[in-house]
Amino acid sequence: MSSTDTLPPLRDVINTHDLKARKSLGQNFLLDLNLTAKIARQAGDVSECDVLEIGPGPGGLTRGLLAEGARHVLAIEKDKRCLPALTEIADAYPGRLTVIEGDALQVDPLAHLTPPIRIAANLPYNVGTELLVRWLTPREWPPFWQSLTLMFQREVAERIVAKPGSKAFGRLALLAQWRADARIVLQLPPEAFTPPPKVSSAVVHLTALAEPRYPADPEVLNRVVAAAFNQRRKMLRSALKGVAPDIEDRLLAAGLKPTDRAEQVPLEGFCALAREVAKV
Ligand code: SAM
Repeated sequence: MSSTDTLPPLRDVINTHDLKARKSLGQNFLLDLNLTAKIARQAGDVSECDVLEIGPGPGGLTRGLLAEGARHVLAIEKDKRCLPALTEIADAYPGRLTVIEGDALQVDPLAHLTPPIRIAANLPYNVGTELLVRWLTPREWPPFWQSLTLMFQREVAERIVAKPGSKAFGRLALLAQWRADARIVLQLPPEAFTPPPKVSSAVVHLTALAEPRYPADPEVLNRVVAAAFNQRRKMLRSALKGVAPDIEDRLLAAGLKPTDRAEQVPLEGFCALAREVAKV
């Protein structure tokens, strides 16, 4: 598929529609359509999929996804100033782009989507992390999405793919790697954005596994992991004291050393502990 379209360059779009970036909305736009096409390609084969895009802004990634052949894109944008620019894209791709004005944290997109569904977004980092956690923690698995292709601050991307023993290893790594494959697929310097943010960014691609890597109750696992990393410098036996009164026995039953610290425990160990904690 071609990465270009007949629409005006994005720099002209933001001038025409007076889309001066607003810090309060975390607006750092990608204006290079070759780059947005490259990000769109990281989402995999979108030709048979509906793609949920959060925060399309002036539509760089939206255009990339459509030019890459996405069956349908549902874009949720909070800033109504962007809507005229997005309408122009919808007109250029009849029937393939639906735009909802709203806050992605409030809007339920499912009524507007037909599986298979992939998600792609270049979002403000706080919103991105909150949505990622929601997408990774539904009660039932597999989730409504097949893959997530998300731009993050590089440091957050590294936390998602981190391995045990590293400083970046924590709740995000465990949530992501328990039920998905996660890898960094692109690194972007600040200059790739207008205006440039202070830090580098990276695109993370996550593919939902058919079932979790190890059995565990999602709520119990979440609780155990949150408690362990809330006090990551403490030994597990004291960090997890509030989780169960006999936590030391449960740690031993899970094959873990009560004197270990959370960042040394692999995913498999946390899942074993969640199973022990779930026992009455
Ligand atoms: N996707 C565009 C790009 O790559 O150039 C814009 C990226 S900009 C980093 C983030 C976009 O998310 C902005 O357009 C902003 O208005 C929008 N946004 C911020 N918070 C949002 C929210 N809660 N729900 C939906 N969109 C949001």
